[in-house]
Amino acid sequence: MQRFQCYIDGEFLDGEARYQSIDPATGKNWADMPEAREGDVDRAVNAAEKALYDGPWSKMTATQRGKLLYKLADLVAANAQKLAELETRDTGKIIRETSAQIAYVADYYRYYAGIADKIEGSYLPIDKQDMDVWLRREPIGVVAMVVPWNSQLFLSAVKIGPALAAGCTMVVKASEDGPAPLLEFARLIHEAGFPAGVVNIITGFGASCGAALSRHPKVAHVAFTGGPETARHIVRNSAENLASTSLELGGKSPFIVFADADLESAANAQVAGIFAATGQSCVAGSRLIVERSIKDRFLNLLKDKAEAIRVGTPLDMATEVGPLATKRQQDHVAALIHKSVQSGARIVTGGQMPSGEGFYFPPTILDCDGVASPSLAEEFFGPVLSVVAFDTEAEALKLANDTRYGLASGVFTQNLTRAHRLMKGIRAGIVWVNTYRAVSPIAPFGGFGLSGHGREGGLAAALDYTRTKTIWLRTSDDPIPDPFVMR
Ligand code: NAD
Repeated sequence: MQRFQCYIDGEFLDGEARYQSIDPATGKNWADMPEAREGDVDRAVNAAEKALYDGPWSKMTATQRGKLLYKLADLVAANAQKLAELETRDTGKIIRETSAQIAYVADYYRYYAGIADKIEGSYLPIDKQDMDVWLRREPIGVVAMVVPWNSQLFLSAVKIGPALAAGCTMVVKASEDGPAPLLEFARLIHEAGFPAGVVNIITGFGASCGAALSRHPKVAHVAFTGGPETARHIVRNSAENLASTSLELGGKSPFIVFADADLESAANAQVAGIFAATGQSCVAGSRLIVERSIKDRFLNLLKDKAEAIRVGTPLDMATEVGPLATKRQQDHVAALIHKSVQSGARIVTGGQMPSGEGFYFPPTILDCDGVASPSLAEEFFGPVLSVVAFDTEAEALKLANDTRYGLASGVFTQNLTRAHRLMKGIRAGIVWVNTYRAVSPIAPFGGFGLSGHGREGGLAAALDYTRTKTIWLRTSDDPIPDPFVMR
């Protein structure tokens, strides 16, 4: 059984307790993991605080920080295959996706390496004589980062990259489900030469480790990716010391297809949008809103494509849909389908939990037209598409916005003016037009409503890890006049 450790204050440690991680393809234990509890959390946060104010990191120039980030990017690229295999093994995400995604993670670190020495302060044209006033941009402080199981290297890179560029120090909590790739990534942080305590990487359970981290009095900001219910716990805990938060949460993203769209392209994008990562993607286009005149034709196209998907073992390069990450997730998907069918949703394909080992679930399409199906409102985080039809553009927009979430959306049409109207009308942080699921380190990413707040990616994300300090310097040598008048 493979054994992993936490990384605290530049050292690899076993953690206060141990637990075993399950291979989702077999349902059997495969790795021995450290379980950080309150004591480890406290050690890690203290190490991060010391590194922020006292260690060599606090004295480095932004250019030096950038050089370390470039080195880290190169190490991620060189180790991408190994990291991908670990992520596939520990979370069930197919190797085809993890290898491409982790190679791209290196580009995220490279992007933020270039940002490090471009975070500037400013000089203010102040309305007073003999006064110079500047804004300094300083690191926000010790950052707690809490990530879910899916795409842990990617979801942590969009936090660690900008936070390091800004000069912060951090404690990263990997999900208890599938922490292997992030714990292994700690070795690259070490090898790149980041001083001890700058990046600490631990794992443990949400209610103990995650809660202790998000309420720790020395944490200035909590960057969280996960579900809205956990986000509420995080916000309540962070309120204890009034830490700021950025929240990247779930979604129930609309995917709108008009009759004039290139249906073959739209169908491929829809298949990727809902079945990639076995549907365990925050931006999953899980609500298909299709023009009624093409509904049957488009559903037939989707059904054929869904039934041709190769479901299988995630370490095989030919596999297109692997298992779900946990038994809990598999049961949740089955229960929500059952509830939806009881409410009137019709199964177009899939829908049955397979017998046999591993947490597999087949690509599933539910026709929910005219039905108040719970599958239209609740996140599956699994390979299940819910379909409704519309007759007018206004109806399509109303259906798209009929959700408390607001992360992503897709619009497929050849009509340019209509596309522009929908771009403005859709209430979501991302609108993809005639494409879906494209991301880049240069483009901000984040949601509205229950999908959270704060943006990851882009320059603004690095600025979010800074706080400003206003400096006033009086340039006159004359004595200060009337001390009782504010100047
Ligand atoms: P989750 O909210 O259950 O867990 C996420 C993390 O929070 C884990 O590390 C967990 O240990 C920790 N946690 C749990 N309880 C906690 C507590 N009380 N205090 C502090 N930390 C706690 O999420 P999940 O089920 O692992 O992941 C799926 C969710 O993540 C979905 O809703 C999905 O949409 C969302 N997600 C969002 C994005 C995005 O960028 N918007 C990306 C990926 C996943």
